[in-house]
Amino acid sequence: MSEGRAEPGAERGGAGEGVSADRSEDTSEGRAGPGPEGGGAGEGVSADRSEDTRPVIARTREELRAARAALDDGDVAVVMTMGALHDGHATLIRTARITHAHVIVTIFLNPLQFGPGEDLSRYPRTFDADLAICTEAGVDLVFAPAPDVIYPDGDPGVRICAGPLGDVLEGQSRPGHFDGVLTVVAKLLHLTRCTSAYFGQKDAQQLLLVRRMCRDLDIPVRVVAVPTVREPDGLALSSRNAYLTASDREAARCLSVALRAGAAAATEGPSAIRRAARAVLVREPLVLVDYLVLVHPETLADVPEWHRGQALLAVAGKVGTTRLIDNLPVLVGPGGRALEIFPDV
Ligand code: AMP
Repeated sequence: MSEGRAEPGAERGGAGEGVSADRSEDTSEGRAGPGPEGGGAGEGVSADRSEDTRPVIARTREELRAARAALDDGDVAVVMTMGALHDGHATLIRTARITHAHVIVTIFLNPLQFGPGEDLSRYPRTFDADLAICTEAGVDLVFAPAPDVIYPDGDPGVRICAGPLGDVLEGQSRPGHFDGVLTVVAKLLHLTRCTSAYFGQKDAQQLLLVRRMCRDLDIPVRVVAVPTVREPDGLALSSRNAYLTASDREAARCLSVALRAGAAAATEGPSAIRRAARAVLVREPLVLVDYLVLVHPETLADVPEWHRGQALLAVAGKVGTTRLIDNLPVLVGPGGRALEIFPDV
């Protein structure tokens, strides 16, 4: 990941040198990427630090094209994020690094996937810290465009339609969310020209829909699932955890506790799983449960009582002002237990 990555116009992470003429984009509203301080202006980066370990930062299509051209074709993985990186994102990057010579991270707060009244404006923006995580994890290239780079004509008239799988669970609470997600994922897959894309099991419905999109639209990208990374007490890492007050944080534990309780009943069948998980959630008054479901991993339909084999136990709820989601893949029936990911999907 060291050779020839500093391309004209592309900025080297953290150092702030080689800033492109296109930096005027940094003033756009609601952008992904740096806060008011700009592109990781160099604080904490010593002059003699090896250039080679820092990712190239591309903010425009031209910068991305130039920096991407310097990476070997055929072995490039992408990890797509909305920024505010944590160890879940870092794990995706590290997993991709194991099998790929090059890793691109995209940092883009996609306005298309946020509904009115959702948290786009307050979503944490921590570009310098994100860059440090990318450097540590061995990222070659960070693509952090402003919205007008991705959507130069404003809202795209043509979008990917997620179809019926996009209307249930998260899609029911967030109409149009997955159309927005898939539209930007498709664009970023094309722009980065990657061969593999790594997605977290944490966002199980998103993972499923990205897989379906690649299959249904013949997009030649391998979609790889990475298990959910959790706090020691079980809470799934999420950029949105930053919104939680101390009491919210305590209450939020019950989501993963409920999933574990459900999985502990996995040998007994679907209704026992649902019952055990629900029993945990009803004891926590600070969590307003949106849904708790045990569904088929590919159709997202509730599994019938006779179902045996893989199923997705998923939960969503509001804790204070913050909507959190979590899930656990489970094996239902003989040998029933929690799984990390669905091995057969
Ligand atoms: P986000 O920035 O929240 O859009 O997430 C970017 C990617 O990181 C998605 O593929 C997520 O599923 C993944 N991700 C987020 N949180 C976690 C986590 N706790 N463990 C594993 N992957 C995660």
